[in-house]
Parts: sequence; structure tokens; C-alpha cells
Amino acid sequence: MAATRRRASASRGLQAGRTGLEGVREPGPARRPYTRRDLEVIYRALIEAYGPQQWWPTAAEDGPEQWFEICLGAILVQNTAWRGAASALANLRGADAMMPEAILDLPEPVLGELLRPSGYFNAKARKVRAFCAAVLDAGGIDLLLAGGADEVRARLLALWGVGPETADAMTLYAGRKPTFVVDAYAYRLFERLGRPPGKRDYDTYRTYFLGKLGDDVWTLNQWHALIVRHGQQTCRRTAPQCEAGVLEPRCEFARGGPGRRGRPE
Ligand code: SF4
Repeated sequence: MAATRRRASASRGLQAGRTGLEGVREPGPARRPYTRRDLEVIYRALIEAYGPQQWWPTAAEDGPEQWFEICLGAILVQNTAWRGAASALANLRGADAMMPEAILDLPEPVLGELLRPSGYFNAKARKVRAFCAAVLDAGGIDLLLAGGADEVRARLLALWGVGPETADAMTLYAGRKPTFVVDAYAYRLFERLGRPPGKRDYDTYRTYFLGKLGDDVWTLNQWHALIVRHGQQTCRRTAPQCEAGVLEPRCEFARGGPGRRGRPE
């Protein structure tokens, strides 16, 4: 009965043309991944729904201090919500320690206490210290982030405590270089829509989206931020707000279709 209501709602939405998703083709039998044009339509729907996202939120103005803060934020947000990472960053600012030298001067237990709101704070203190040492070894955050996207990403991935998602967030938001950040929200969204680019694998998703979306940094910035916004506000892990969302007419999960059989997160 609920599925019937959802189908009817989707149909009404399409007839009324209210979602702007008319250009997205119905999934074929093989459930092909989206084309570039399909993705453009999804992007327009998301940005019209949520507006341009102001990522990355920092207290510092554009420049080395901001880039450094973004990189620390990318480490501190690992396995936690942004609120906890932001609180830890505020603690560092309050201790006048938003610089690599100042952080390395802090005894590790003190640094751990400052980072406590971000969770896993002892491990994160070690990661933050390792990152600060790498910044100083490179001669500054601008030099650590200098070069092409692949070069910067590889340099960051070589650092202890920096995995693919963190490296891509640093490369895109601090380095302003084209890459795509894959996260749990992206897996969930495209599996639920019913046309994922392939298996749930970081490189599979990243390669697919980079190939389709091109190298415009602002657009790549918005894509990741919009996926996160949609995942937090509407396409939640439990109780997704499908009927309030702009993607419902083309979503297999909402229709009770094959997307519902995928892992929901
Ligand atoms: S319709 Fe529901 S499951 Fe599908 S993308 Fe929107 S919120 Fe997520």
C-alpha cells in the first residue's frame, strides 16, 4: 500500500514537472550508471533544492591559515560528525594553536584534550601531529599543496593517517584542485537511486564521477557538499524523507525497487 502511494506520488510529480528531473532517463534493464547529462540534471535538482553550499566552513580568511585549518578539519571529521570536528578546531583556535609549530609544541595529552570533541582524540592527536610535521617538512602548507591534483593527492596519501577520502577533501577544498570526494553519503545515494557506478569501492566511484563531471573545482566542491547535505537532511540512513526530496521520481529505493535491496548505508 505504501509502495503504491509512493508510486502514485512519483507519477504525479513527473506529470506536474515539478522536480526538474524530466531529463533523467528511466533505468534500463541493466541499470546502467548515469550519463553525464543524467548527472547534470540530478545536480541541478540538488542545487535548486539546497542552494550553493558554502564549503569549506572556516574561521580563517582565504590563505595558508585557512588551507591548514581545512586540512585539520578533514582529519578531525574522520568517523565523526562535523559538529565535533568544528568544536575541536574551535578549541585549537582558543588555545592560539592553529599553526603547525604551535600544535607540535603542545604536549600530546594537552593536544588530545583539545581534540576530545572530535572523538578518537588520542589517535587524532597523533594524526594531527604527523600532519603538522609533514607541513613543516614541506616548507609550508602552500608547498605541501603545490602541484597538480594527482601529485598533491599522492603526496597526501603517503602521510600517515590520511586515507583516500581525507586526501581528496584536502586536495579539493584546501588545494582547490579537481578531485571527487567519495563518502558513505555518495554510496547510499547512488545505490538507492538504483544506478550506482559499480561496486561499493572508493576508486570505482571516484574514477566514474571524475570522468563524468570534468575538472571544474567549484562544481566538484558543490557536488560533494550537496550529496552530504542531501544525505543528512533528506536521504537519511534510517527513515529517508523521500516525499520531501527532489529525487524521488527517479529513485528505485523510493519505489520499493532493486535499490531497496542494496545496503542502505
Ligand atoms: S527518494 Fe528517498 S531514498 Fe531516494 S534519494 Fe530521495 S530521500 Fe533518498
